[in-house]
Amino acid sequence: MDAQTHMPKGARAQRDKMIATLECVIGDALAATAERLPETSAVLDPVRQRAWEYVAQKLAQGSTPLPDAHSAYENLKRAFDRRSNLSQTSELLSWVQQTQAPSDAFNAVLEDGMAAVAVFMHRALAQPKVRRWIEDVRADRDNLEDIGQRNFSLMDRQWMESAGLDEKLVEDLSRARSAGFTAWQKAKPDSDFNAWLPYFEKVVELTRQKSEILGKEFGTSPYQASLESFNPKLSNETVNQIFGELRTKLPGLIKRITDHQLAQEPPLPLPPIPADVQRRLGKLIMNKLGLENRYARLDESMHPFSSGQWDDVRVTTHYKEKDAIDGLLSIVHEVGHALYSQSLPKESMGQPIGEAQSMWVHETQSIFWERQVAATKAFMEFLAPILKEELGVDGPEWNPENLHKLITRVQPSLIRTEADAVTYPAHVILRHDLEQKLIDGSLAPKDVPAVWAKGMKELLGIDVPDHAHGCMQDVHWPEGLIGYFPAYTFGALGAARLMEKAKQDIPKMDELIRKGEFKPIREWLTDKIHRHGSYYSGEKLIENATGKKLSAKPWLDHVECESLH
Ligand SMILES: [Zn+2]
Repeated sequence: MDAQTHMPKGARAQRDKMIATLECVIGDALAATAERLPETSAVLDPVRQRAWEYVAQKLAQGSTPLPDAHSAYENLKRAFDRRSNLSQTSELLSWVQQTQAPSDAFNAVLEDGMAAVAVFMHRALAQPKVRRWIEDVRADRDNLEDIGQRNFSLMDRQWMESAGLDEKLVEDLSRARSAGFTAWQKAKPDSDFNAWLPYFEKVVELTRQKSEILGKEFGTSPYQASLESFNPKLSNETVNQIFGELRTKLPGLIKRITDHQLAQEPPLPLPPIPADVQRRLGKLIMNKLGLENRYARLDESMHPFSSGQWDDVRVTTHYKEKDAIDGLLSIVHEVGHALYSQSLPKESMGQPIGEAQSMWVHETQSIFWERQVAATKAFMEFLAPILKEELGVDGPEWNPENLHKLITRVQPSLIRTEADAVTYPAHVILRHDLEQKLIDGSLAPKDVPAVWAKGMKELLGIDVPDHAHGCMQDVHWPEGLIGYFPAYTFGALGAARLMEKAKQDIPKMDELIRKGEFKPIREWLTDKIHRHGSYYSGEKLIENATGKKLSAKPWLDHVECESLH
């Protein structure tokens, strides 16, 4: 591990390219903050001092613009490559900020750095010449090869969403989102819906405007456009059809499972496990699943996430002494995301077609490892001896049966992020229902709490005590992320469909998991999903991989089988 850059040793060229961008961005940010930091510049540490010198050098040299390529499409490829490099830089800065607990002064530099990257990313696509290139290729797209046409349609969409809209709307929406987030953060602890409401109304209004414009541009309904901002090519018709089926089946399923579990001996609770022991275990499991230390890191942050791609992937977690097994499953989840990011097609690096297909396909990968591989009896049989060895424990609570019972316990609850796998989709269905109505205008933000309470009663049979445990619990809507939620449940359904097929293709799946032999599973996922990047739509990707259309059935069968023990 390189102590100065915090990057794992990996492909040198990629690393150098990112460092160059990072220096450039931090350099720009330092230049912008030079006025504010004169008295501290003398005491900057060597790394920051070098960045400081870089600024002087850069200011003296100016920067050279790229010469024009021979075609509009080639020019677009360069612009998107630059944008992708900036986006990786932004991820890296945010990772430093969330995991390295920087000093206040360096934090200010990082914030400026991230703002500078955001501006450069916008500029990479917002220049008038990019609009000209987009229009030229639109008029002539039939002359591109198949892969070029697919790449261009993704470029066109990304360009429309970031630079193709009226600048005033982009700016207003960005301001409304950050104001909405701040107001929500302040109002949530007091459950003060009325304090947040005007900001929520503003974000919804501007998101509606944006969705209407994008819908017109791409010939879809406004909500479809919103959904595709996170889940390209996922059809809302499919979402409604599958959620409709889940809506009718979930209440009966939840009742069957909870009745059954309550009639059984409850699982034995586990004692707390110190964070440093969990840290060692987490790393061990990450390595066993196939993320090598040469290419990956495991760090800590307030909220777990994964970032990076190819030879530099980073996962984070948050250790809770009382919830060690849940914590391990959360690491497995993030490892699933990282394994996907690591195996995206290198030949399309920097292009939209080389990116992960969508948020929901990303979730199929994380949930595949978390729920289909790890939350099983076979995996607990693999894990139990490791736990006993590493923790020096031995008691009935550490038996595979008990561990499996613990992680498959079902109980309707108020908070989505804490929900078990079976009741989780009910939380998503409620949000999907409401956000469609917010976008088509049939539900006003002020009426959300009442509709929320009604939905929770219908779907999960529970009463909502206050807004903080109700419609104010998630960060998504305050930040204007409307259309994101279906990704979680589609990820779970896709993961179940994939495992159904993987079990046919890979003989003795349970035995492999029990022995900790995960390579055939990784290779199967890379072949079926990872290496295709964004070439296919998510639905097509799953259909190609499994020979069947996405449906709720494999997931319903899986949770019923796992929970009725
Ligand atoms: Zn995830």
